[in-house]
Amino acid sequence: ERTRELREANLKLLQLDELKSSFISLVSHELRTPLTSVLGYAKVTSKAFRKHFKPLVQDDAPLTVRGDQILDNLQVIESEGGRLSRLINDLLDLNRIESGRQPWHDRPVNLAEEARAAVRVLQREFSEKPQLRVEVAMHPEAPLVMADCDRIRQVFINLLSNALKFSAEGFIRVTVGPDASGQGVTVTVQDSGIGIPGEDLERIFDRFYQVAKNQDTDKASGTGLGLAISRQIVEHYGGRMWAESSPGQGASFTFVLPRYARFEG
Ligand code: ADP
Repeated sequence: ERTRELREANLKLLQLDELKSSFISLVSHELRTPLTSVLGYAKVTSKAFRKHFKPLVQDDAPLTVRGDQILDNLQVIESEGGRLSRLINDLLDLNRIESGRQPWHDRPVNLAEEARAAVRVLQREFSEKPQLRVEVAMHPEAPLVMADCDRIRQVFINLLSNALKFSAEGFIRVTVGPDASGQGVTVTVQDSGIGIPGEDLERIFDRFYQVAKNQDTDKASGTGLGLAISRQIVEHYGGRMWAESSPGQGASFTFVLPRYARFEG
């Protein structure tokens, strides 16, 4: 009798969990559609405004809102809209992974190659900080891993864009090599940025958690979900991810994934 009750309660919880996931997915998709057109119109309008109207509007023109204010306002709409859109995409990603609905297209992956691909994706952001050097170093015996290269790249993009966001100058260094046991591959993304206080090193992997004092650096851009998603991806493959930082020494993120096969060169 007792086991039957427990089984029923368990089933009920599973159904509720399923309901929650499909609710999040439905709402996020529904939010995305109107947001796409809001963002599209904001972009087109500010472009047109800059091109055709700005030269005509004098700063002392008898307008309720001056030309430069209109442009400023449009830029706020664009950047906040962009943030909302990243938030929705991150929520969808996290929900898909947690509910087991994420399709994983696994094949042997060279981690250093994915790190370099992620650097290319972030090329524009890197070129805005020319005092920041980025390098990817691969140990000659770094093994391959069996994984979905798009998800691995997503992990690198998250870690690298954080390193970029919280460093003004110095270096960002990615190293890929065999781990001590020989059973895994260790990846470290190290930066020389503002670092992370010791008490926050574990909490930054929680959903929506952001280090309060770090946020003046780049208030509008983050969602607080990137590290939660990255850790979920690594853990899906039986790996681990953690952060280290000592004051004034930058931050370093490490993840270990099980090896696929010996790298024979
Ligand atoms: P987001 O970057 O979108 O805020 P994340 O989950 O990627 O969300 O990161 C959570 C928080 O961890 C960041 O807001 C920041 O406070 C801190 N953090 C992450 N990476 C770094 C880093 N390389 N240097 C300093 N702080 C970091």
